[in-house]
Amino acid sequence: MHPASHDLEALLSGVAAGIAPSELGELFTAAEDPFVVSLAGGMPALGGLPWERLADLARDLLLRSGPSVLQYGGARGRGDLRAGVADVVAEQGLAVDPDDVLVTAGSQQALDLVARALLDPGDTVLVEAPTYVGALGVLAAQRARIEHVALDDDGLRPDALEEALRRAARAGRIPKLLYTVPHHQNPAGVTLALERRHAVLDLAGRYGVLVLEDDPYALLGFSGPPLPSLRSLAPDLVVHTGSLSKTLAPGFRLGWVLAPEWLRSRLELLAEATVLCPSGLTQAVAAEYLATTDWRNQVERYRDQYRERRDSVLGTLDVELPEATWTRPGGGFYVWLTLPDGLDATTLAPAALAAGVAYVPGSAFFADGGGRDQLRLAYCFPPPDRLVEGIRRLGTAVRAARR
Ligand code: PMP
Repeated sequence: MHPASHDLEALLSGVAAGIAPSELGELFTAAEDPFVVSLAGGMPALGGLPWERLADLARDLLLRSGPSVLQYGGARGRGDLRAGVADVVAEQGLAVDPDDVLVTAGSQQALDLVARALLDPGDTVLVEAPTYVGALGVLAAQRARIEHVALDDDGLRPDALEEALRRAARAGRIPKLLYTVPHHQNPAGVTLALERRHAVLDLAGRYGVLVLEDDPYALLGFSGPPLPSLRSLAPDLVVHTGSLSKTLAPGFRLGWVLAPEWLRSRLELLAEATVLCPSGLTQAVAAEYLATTDWRNQVERYRDQYRERRDSVLGTLDVELPEATWTRPGGGFYVWLTLPDGLDATTLAPAALAAGVAYVPGSAFFADGGGRDQLRLAYCFPPPDRLVEGIRRLGTAVRAARR
């Protein structure tokens, strides 16, 4: 043993030393108790996947072409998977050449690559209020200056965006990036309306801001096809990230990014320097699945399942929490709830957990301390009867706190 004579922890980078420990870890551990109904994690309900088929695909691939699926591959990803991704995004009105697809380890890696390719410390990024907690982490790691822009039931508000851009211009710091989750937003559950898509792109174009469209929930709409993706409306101005996590399964760790060529080539170099190449095995299984299975039908089954779960939650909220307000998602996984009387969702969380329900307090989705009286309810994982029970317990905890 060589006892350290120095404080080696002082070697940590500023970014690593500055990462605030999240209370979410503890919350998710507590939510594993089988008594607790967890409305905390956005975990897809995978029970209905064709397991036999996936197992057969993996077995056949290993026996037929083992060496090639287990070899290093190109940083851009396998050609067969890039062709599959082109089919998936075509459902969103995006016509792409498979050569323009960059495969990533989930869309989380795509967000990280885009942030690293564009942001220097102190650069300004606009995000929705609230926004995806995982994007906040990526942006914090680049030491970006994060500014929130209000959203409502129709998504990001163009008037608030214009105001933020004007304010930034006056201060001499035009944002580099606008990050948005345009369909069934995480955590708010809202979708950016079509006329707003045009207004947002118009503003971004005028101010020279790149738009990062993070769209993993696009195909999970409960009443019809998705709206045109922002990238389909303005390919020069928009970087688009997508994922198989919500429409197939997150364990494949497969996502993608579509970007203007000047950026795509840089993203590929950064990806190569980070992971060399995405997992060949999961790419090959997913590519074969997309090419040989009626995956549209599978996604339809997911939609039916999540629609039923959303209805259970909304119906029970009406009865149990009439004093609260909440969004009515048209797809995806999440309801965003505002507590009555300015109740603090972080303070309420331990009492809710004791009553047997877990959620994520709203402040997790803000970089600026916002969202204290708000919370996210993820209805994707528990079956409907458990969701009803979970919302009842939440109602009990809220009533007790108001007394
Ligand atoms: N973006 C959003 C909006 C998400 O909700 C998630 C997953 N919760 C991700 C990106 C990352 O997903 P993955 O890396 O599994 O594709």
